[in-house]
Amino acid sequence: MRRFVRACYAGAAGYSYAKKAEDVAREHGIDRVARLASNENPRPPSPAALEAAEAALREGNRYPDERNLALVEALRRYHGDYRFVTGAGMDGVIETVIRTVVDPGETVVVSTPTFSFYGLAAAAHGGRVVNVPRREDFSVDTEAFIEASQGARLAFLCSPNNPTGNSVTPEAVEEILEGMEGLLFLDNAYVDFADIDYRPLMQRHENLVIGRTMSKIFSLAGFRVGYAFVPEWFEPFYNRAATPFALNSVSAAAAIGALSDPDRVRETRDHVRAWRRRFMEEVPYAVFPSDANFVMIDVAPHTGGEVTERLAAKGVLVRSCTSFPGLGDHYIRVSVGEDWENERFLEAIKSI
Ligand SMILES: *Cc1c(COP(=O)(O)O)cnc(C)c1O
Repeated sequence: MRRFVRACYAGAAGYSYAKKAEDVAREHGIDRVARLASNENPRPPSPAALEAAEAALREGNRYPDERNLALVEALRRYHGDYRFVTGAGMDGVIETVIRTVVDPGETVVVSTPTFSFYGLAAAAHGGRVVNVPRREDFSVDTEAFIEASQGARLAFLCSPNNPTGNSVTPEAVEEILEGMEGLLFLDNAYVDFADIDYRPLMQRHENLVIGRTMSKIFSLAGFRVGYAFVPEWFEPFYNRAATPFALNSVSAAAAIGALSDPDRVRETRDHVRAWRRRFMEEVPYAVFPSDANFVMIDVAPHTGGEVTERLAAKGVLVRSCTSFPGLGDHYIRVSVGEDWENERFLEAIKSI
C-alpha cells in the first residue's frame, strides 16, 4: 500500500520536532529538564486566558464561529484597525495562504536558512520551492530575493528570523514589496521581542501578509492559535480556502483572554531582553545578536548535534540547528527560559 503515499511524504523527512523533555529526563536520569528547545514562553497562560477557555469549554457542544468575530475584535482592540484572518497556529495560516494562491508548479520563494515549514507546506501543495540563501552574516540579500521572486506567486521572509535571530529592516521589506508582484508572507512570530513595527506597511502595500502567533510571547503554544494581517482583497479568498472551523472555540477564547493582559506580555519581553544580554555576555562561543526569545550560537569546533547531546546529559534541552536547510552543522539555538533553566544552561555550556 505504501506506493500510494505521495512522493513528498514517502521520501523526505518531514518537519523536524524538538526532542521531548521526558525522553531526555529518562535517558539521563534527571528529574527536571530545562526546556530551551522550542522557543515557548515558560510561564503558564495568563489567568485571563484560562478563565475564558474554561467558560468556552462549557459550550463545546456548539461549532465555533467560523468568522471568529470575537477574536478579530480583540485583535483590533490590541493592534488597531486592520484586517485579520485566523487559523490553527500560524502553521495553519501558512498552509491556508499557500492553498489560496499556489497552483501546482508555481514558484514559492523562501529566504533561507529559516523555519522549515514554509518549504514543506509549499512542496506538499505542489509548489516549486526556490530557496534564496541569506548572506554570510545572515542578512537578507534583497536583490537576490527580488530577482528570485519575479513571477512567483508567494514568497516567505521571517523576521526576526528563526533560527538566526536577526531582523530585516522595514525599509528592506518595502523594497521587496515594491520589487515583486506576488504575495509576501512576512513571518512575525517573534516580533513582540523586537523593537520593530512592520504593521504600517499594511497601509501602503496590497501584496503583504503578516503572520503572527499566540504560541510564543502569549504562552499559548498548546492552544494552537495563529492569525495574520491581510490586505482587504485577500480576506474572502483566504476564508474560502480555509479548513472549516480550523480554530477551535476554546483556543479562540483563550487568545481573547491573553490579548486582554498586556502586562504579562511586557513582563515576558523584559525578562527575555535581560537574559538575551546575559547569554551574549557569558556564553563562551560566538552568540549571534538576536531580536527574538532565543539566540543562535556557533559552537564550532564542535557540531550542534554533539553539544546538544552533552547539554542534554546535563539536563538542558536545546535545539541543534542541523535540520535547518542551508545552515552548517555547528550551530545550536537556545530559548530564553525561566531563571533556573537559563542559569543551568550557562553553567553547562561553560563546562563544554
Ligand atoms: C513557532 C513559529 C511559528 C509557528 O507558530 P504556531 O502558531 O505555533 O504554528 C511560525 N513561524 C515561526 C518562524 C516560528 O518559529
